[in-house]
Amino acid sequence: MIRKKIIILVLGIMLILYLIMGLYLSSSMLSFTTEKFKEKCLWQTMYIKAELTPTLSPNSNAENLHKLEAILSKTHNMTVEIVTTEPKHSEEELRQAFTGHEGFRIINGVQGKKLLVAIPLAHNMVLRTTNSMAEVEAEEEKIRSSIVLVSCLLMFIAFFLLRHFIAKQTKPLEVTSASVRQYLSGQDSVRLPLNDNGEFGVLAFGFNTLADNYADIKIDLQREKHKNKIILNNMDNAMALINAAGHLVECNQQFTEWFGGSVGKENEEYENLLRHTKINEFLHQCLKEQDGTGIVFNIIKNNKKKVFKVFGAPMREAFQNYPTMVLMVFHDITAMQELYDKQTTFVSNASHELSTPLTTIRGFADTLLDEDTGSDAELRHKFLQIILEEAKRMQGLIKDLLQMAKLDQADYRESMLIENFAIEPILKDLAAEVQPQAEKRDLLFYVEEQDLVEPVLLYANKDWFKQILVNLTENALKYTPQKGKINISYAGGSEQVEFTVFNTGEGIGQEDRRKIFERFYRVDKARSRAQGGSGLGLSIVKFIVEILGGNIRVESEPGVGVSFIFTLPRGKNA
Ligand code: ADP
Repeated sequence: MIRKKIIILVLGIMLILYLIMGLYLSSSMLSFTTEKFKEKCLWQTMYIKAELTPTLSPNSNAENLHKLEAILSKTHNMTVEIVTTEPKHSEEELRQAFTGHEGFRIINGVQGKKLLVAIPLAHNMVLRTTNSMAEVEAEEEKIRSSIVLVSCLLMFIAFFLLRHFIAKQTKPLEVTSASVRQYLSGQDSVRLPLNDNGEFGVLAFGFNTLADNYADIKIDLQREKHKNKIILNNMDNAMALINAAGHLVECNQQFTEWFGGSVGKENEEYENLLRHTKINEFLHQCLKEQDGTGIVFNIIKNNKKKVFKVFGAPMREAFQNYPTMVLMVFHDITAMQELYDKQTTFVSNASHELSTPLTTIRGFADTLLDEDTGSDAELRHKFLQIILEEAKRMQGLIKDLLQMAKLDQADYRESMLIENFAIEPILKDLAAEVQPQAEKRDLLFYVEEQDLVEPVLLYANKDWFKQILVNLTENALKYTPQKGKINISYAGGSEQVEFTVFNTGEGIGQEDRRKIFERFYRVDKARSRAQGGSGLGLSIVKFIVEILGGNIRVESEPGVGVSFIFTLPRGKNA
């Protein structure tokens, strides 16, 4: 492109120069030829004058003069005139001659240009010859064609030389522009050749350095972007950049998972989130340049309540004076909220459980202080018995509460010794302790005999294992009706040992079975209280079983009884 332009420009300038030079040359050569021709014609006219002068006299009449003119014209093959009369205004050559000088005039005739030469004669006469300028015109034509021919030739040579020269000079420029175009079209790897030592070399070096730097920056940016994406997508929190129109500009995987939003896609769940009054107001508050201090809002997802704490930061786009987007971060605080709710419920339940026996104790103590009642020995004994029972119940409750608190402490859990030990001796000790109590209540209690070659071991904490058995058998003793049966059995699997504590009775309904391991849950509150239960025994059992790596469930058949089945890791024989 640039090459063509330069060639056209240079050739145009050359053409104008040639034209000027040609015009100058042809006009100077023409004036030279014309002068030469004039000189020649003057000499010829002077020669005729010399021939004519002896025959002229002051008395020569017009007739004689015409004869002479005719003879001379014929001899010299040109028009020869002897002028005696005053010349017209246009006859410049005659007027010059009548003043004693030579006169010249060129006229355009039908047969081409003619040169009129006039010189003075004696007796106030003038000699004029008319000379055809055909030879001058031919010469003129020859000069013109030569100039045109030479010009064309020169232009032709100049064209090729120029083309070659300019091609050489503009090649780096063309390579540069082609490479830059490729680069701009997205071919980042394109670089300029560095084989030029001049300005193009410097330009190419500069371009290549810039392109390398840009490539490095781009790689760094991509790496950074990738890193950020990984961080964002692996965050526990959901993050979204939302613009004033409510469109998602950016979001992480967690946000898509929780609220269904994804960049560039419409989603009903996300629309619902935006329609949420709290979120909507929060978005607009943040857009008014106020940092979101965090709101708490709930959603129901898959029939489960989820609680979020949301933080918002207003953001501006480049060249904007006001925020156009809001970065929202959603913390899932459901678990925390649940824990908090559980703790609140636990504290209020525990307070309630403690206040009930306390109220009873206080009531009976007050009554005992009353002189009338206090003096009745039988009544006093009865009341003191109740106070003692209630105090025992409180003690039991406090013991269980302390146990729960201890189990909640990681340090305590980690300090417990986990070891291999045989099951059989512990069950025997338990049976020895429980048997008399069972008999007292007219219950049949037994531990199923195991016909084993070598003892089955547990890998657990001995005290905890005993506590599990005690809690379950105590319950069985409490809730088995008279003449009922309680039995403990176990079966060793390859990894776990499964224990079953069974007792007869009316059984536990499905709904109660689901909640039975919750803290303070009782199937029959009055009965449990009457039996001195705290409502914590089973939740302690479940907690311990799970800490030890096992699990527990309850099975029950109405009218038949209840089975508590739990597993614990089997120990390895040395
Ligand atoms: P509690 O101190 O009231 O016994 P637990 O947590 O030990 O508290 O038991 C919770 C409830 O489960 C009891 O109140 C009782 O209603 C029921 N339960 C526990 N064990 C048995 C059982 N072996 N037979 C029938 N019901 C039982």
